[in-house]
Amino acid sequence: MDKITVTSPLLPDLGEFDELLKDIWSKKWITNNGTYHQQLEKALCDYLKVPYLSLFTNGTLPLITALQALRITGEVITTPYSFVATTHSLWWNGIKPVFVDINPVTCNMDPDKIEAAITPKTTAIMPVHCYGMPCDVERIEAIADKYGLKVIYDAAHAFGVEINGKSILENGDMSTLSFHATKVYNTLEGGALIVNDDKTKKRIDYLKNFGFAGETEIVAPGINAKMDEVRAAYGLLNLKQVDEAIAARKVVAECYRDSLKDVKGIRFMNDISGVRHNYSYFPIFINAEEYGMTRDELYFKMKDANVLGRRYFYPLISTFSTYRSLESANPSNLPIATRLAEEVICLPMYSSLSMEQVNRVLFEIVK
Ligand SMILES: *Cc1c(COP(=O)(O)O)cnc(C)c1O
Repeated sequence: MDKITVTSPLLPDLGEFDELLKDIWSKKWITNNGTYHQQLEKALCDYLKVPYLSLFTNGTLPLITALQALRITGEVITTPYSFVATTHSLWWNGIKPVFVDINPVTCNMDPDKIEAAITPKTTAIMPVHCYGMPCDVERIEAIADKYGLKVIYDAAHAFGVEINGKSILENGDMSTLSFHATKVYNTLEGGALIVNDDKTKKRIDYLKNFGFAGETEIVAPGINAKMDEVRAAYGLLNLKQVDEAIAARKVVAECYRDSLKDVKGIRFMNDISGVRHNYSYFPIFINAEEYGMTRDELYFKMKDANVLGRRYFYPLISTFSTYRSLESANPSNLPIATRLAEEVICLPMYSSLSMEQVNRVLFEIVK
């Protein structure tokens, strides 16, 4: 039987893309804040309901640039239960990551664990809205205010997520997005940094273009992290169909939930009232004793049937060679993240997944 992949990219109509490519070819302006770049920044601000957004060439460079822009140094409190880029962005800035454990229901940084991890060297907190589930932003920011810390949210999973009609991306000092092929909304590769005022937006625009503030003036040791016109045009087309894609993902999520709710030993995440979810991932957590099979046994059984899940996030970032000697990386400091990393499988989730495919996934899991 055909392979069911864990993800599949949202692609714009090729004919429409071709029209925009012809336009770019005729203008001969292919990067450096061209018209499609400007249009996409504006369209994303409108769609995401945020005041200022700067486009990037991927979702890792906005993290690195945010830390530069806010002049973060010393130690930053973060989560081990994420994609490696979160922690790598700290490493690339010479910052020591300090891992704290997560909440077992949301998979996000546990606010109860933050204060004990603060030292005189702590300058910021970098939480992740894991799987697009909102962090406890109020408690995180109350702690940040009390200790004078900055907050940078890695919101790579949280495209379009809103709480009571307000964008989740407006929280903290800055938030970052990834528009990688595997995300809910993609620009092939791409990303963005969301900031709260125009002065900061201007500074980010300098930093992502080598620090150029004018023809001959360099105001900072910036990097090259710009998005080009081809991907900005592609992004404009994909934005037109992202609501439809999220709605289709919701149908898949509801189908999974409906069929898995009575399966002993399988836990999944439910929608939160007042939150507009984006259904970016569908993680399930296997209690081996109750389910009668370990996570890995199920994962490989699915794989044998050409149904690909992904053990996301396993292994924890804190177990990688770069980080495992850190004191905070000790598994005894991270019992919940360590357990969930052993229990999780993300099921296939994308807008073009057919009901027949969903049923094939479920056939492997429901007993
Ligand atoms: C995808 C992702 C990133 C990195 O984004 P890229 O666009 O792949 O560079 C960072 N953080 C998290 C949590 C991600 O899932």
